[in-house]
Amino acid sequence: MSVIETQTIVNSQEKKLVAEIISNPNGTNMMLDDEITKVRARGVDVFYGAKQALFDVNIDIPKKSVTAFIGPSGCGKSTFLRCINRMNDTIDTCRVSGSILIDQNDVNSKSVDPVMLRASVGMVFQKPNPFPKSIFENVAYGPKIHGLAHKKSEYEEIVETSLRKAGLWEEVKDRLDSPGTGLSGGQQQRLVIARAIAVNPEIILMDEPCSALDPIATAKIEELIDELRENYCIIIVTHSMSQAARVSQQTAFFHMGKLVEAGPTETMFTNPKDTRTQDYITGRFG
Ligand code: ADP
Ligand code: MG
Repeated sequence: MSVIETQTIVNSQEKKLVAEIISNPNGTNMMLDDEITKVRARGVDVFYGAKQALFDVNIDIPKKSVTAFIGPSGCGKSTFLRCINRMNDTIDTCRVSGSILIDQNDVNSKSVDPVMLRASVGMVFQKPNPFPKSIFENVAYGPKIHGLAHKKSEYEEIVETSLRKAGLWEEVKDRLDSPGTGLSGGQQQRLVIARAIAVNPEIILMDEPCSALDPIATAKIEELIDELRENYCIIIVTHSMSQAARVSQQTAFFHMGKLVEAGPTETMFTNPKDTRTQDYITGRFG
């Protein structure tokens, strides 16, 4: 099946969204109306020491939708993802300028507490990273830190709801006290997603979440992403064109630290404007 044939069928809400993107005259960088924008980046430059990793990135990322970041290794996808929840703060040499707004609030403003920010902007990495604790504790950990529950029954409810939303409840409900690290890779990745969901995020960042998984576990995560977009803004970095085509409604193509082009996934794969995008999606480099 070709990439285009695997494109998920858009529902009417997405059609509206796609229409709004296409009707925008600003061209390549996907500028959206305020009401549908969750994340707005303007003039984002990132340096590691003297080396510049991102150059003047401008993009609007919509609510309740999946946006895929694609591009060759080292082009800055993870760097840009880390700007959104300020994970770059944890890298000493890293300096970010420009603005990243979430619901029109600047994430780099002094009044933003990075710990709170990272609860509302969850992150899932390539290698599943459950804590060395029980399945229950993995999910209850965030709510404990953030004081989201007080009684045992409240924790139990959050844990069950989060595991259900992550599509893992049925598989683990009889062994909540077993270590999270004892699960299969795909289950661990869903556990980590449940852990993120437990603190009521609005955005979930996924950095190549399926790279370490087999095709069946990958299919489960893709199915889950498709369900989660009803409630969350999801941004996924992927090396797989077919995955981007299957799970995302918008795609952004990065190349050598620049956002080359972004727009509705279908358009990006069938009718890219830039020859670099064309070359990448047809496998000429990458
Ligand atoms: P991608 O995720 O697209 O593969 P990255 O965002 O990881 O790209 O990297 C973009 C550029 O920034 C690369 O040149 C990479 O070597 C550099 N880089 C990434 N992380 C660091 C870091 N912690 N320190 C120094 N340079 C880094
Ligand atoms: Mg990366």
